[in-house]
Amino acid sequence: MTLIDFETYRWDAQNCVRCSNCRWVDFIWMASLQFSKICPSSARYGFDAYAAHGRLEIALALANGELEWSPKVLEEIYTCTLCGACDVKCLRNVGLEPTQTLEWMRQKAVDDGQGPMPEHKAVAENIANNRNRYGTPNDNRGKWLRSDARPVQKADVLYFVGCNSSFKQQQIAQATAKLLNASGTEFMILGEQEWCCGNQLYNVGLVDQAREMAEHNLKAIEESRAKTVVASCAECYQTLKVIYPKLMGKSTTDLGFEVLHITEHLDQQLQNGKLKFTAPVNMRVTYQDPCRLGRMSEPWTHWEGKRGKYGIFDPPKPRRKGTYGAYDPARNLLNAIPGLQVEEMERRKDQAWCCGASGGVRDAFKELALWSARERIEEAKEVTGAEAIISACPYCKENFTEVITADKERLQTLDITEIMLQAISPEGKEAC
Ligand code: SF4
Ligand code: SF4
Repeated sequence: MTLIDFETYRWDAQNCVRCSNCRWVDFIWMASLQFSKICPSSARYGFDAYAAHGRLEIALALANGELEWSPKVLEEIYTCTLCGACDVKCLRNVGLEPTQTLEWMRQKAVDDGQGPMPEHKAVAENIANNRNRYGTPNDNRGKWLRSDARPVQKADVLYFVGCNSSFKQQQIAQATAKLLNASGTEFMILGEQEWCCGNQLYNVGLVDQAREMAEHNLKAIEESRAKTVVASCAECYQTLKVIYPKLMGKSTTDLGFEVLHITEHLDQQLQNGKLKFTAPVNMRVTYQDPCRLGRMSEPWTHWEGKRGKYGIFDPPKPRRKGTYGAYDPARNLLNAIPGLQVEEMERRKDQAWCCGASGGVRDAFKELALWSARERIEEAKEVTGAEAIISACPYCKENFTEVITADKERLQTLDITEIMLQAISPEGKEAC
């Protein structure tokens, strides 16, 4: 059964006014035609079926039994990165929430035995067999640890490492651990008791498998008695803060622990004087707002009700318009690094352009994922002249790295933890 009930959002699908606001940066923020688009799949393929308004039309036809599943329909719904840009744009202008329907379509595809895409099934199988997306034995999960990263047995803070930093880009986990140590934060880890957060499982419509991950990880966190869970991956962060409550039918405030991204935690430590950047990093950089850290990360409030006449919610429904995403902590940290020159791209904060990796797109539609990353790299170069594009999500970095390597770009990409590590110790420079 789908987690989302289409009937709750039928009003949205029926009342889209085809204004196309969901495809463009807010007009007051638009600085150029070249960088004014905001929906990667719509910008890449042009047809309405690849934008929120076309997908709402598809959803309505599927729900009404007027459209059959076909490879083309699956492509149209799975080429969306679920970046949330259409959601915040439409919520502010027309009051619809397209991503609820986008998620429902994927859940329905799975329910009907049509989805997800074969590449998603392979990742899901890895997770089912080994509890991580790479299919590596999960007892290797703690192998990123080096002697200079010092977790403890019991602490108020739990570092949730995530699959990517545990197995692939271990330098991000190592940098995070060193930064936690440097900011006087005692932390513990779950080791092999940490399972894949399930972000991609949920995003491709595999709700039951995602719930299994949620139940396990929530139990492990509860048993650890952590008061705060810190994630260095934007996808893990959004999963813990938004998707788990959604899956469990509760609100973020009912989780029993606080969820922070590493940038939020370290910004707090910076403000209270416990973290200091002393080593200059003489570089011009720009910052990529990860979708899952920014506009997709507002707390989830459980709501059950109906949308009736004139679109009135009964009972009133809290709206998540992307205003309160975690945009400033990363900027505060970068601006505190001596020597670092931080330049903004045109599309930023809630208006940021998605790197293209999320929602299962990098696995199933690599060409689109790399095209989206290439677009962003062009913006970084043309608008800011940056030497490096900094992100706060390992999946952004991975996607950017592939394009930078293939195109032999001079611009580099770094995770924010890596550049902060350079700023706390000269050794950090060598590590990166
Ligand atoms: S902004 Fe909303 S109403 Fe306008 S076309 Fe997009 S989904 Fe439809
Ligand atoms: S979630 Fe992102 S990729 Fe999907 S339709 Fe909306 S803007 Fe486009």
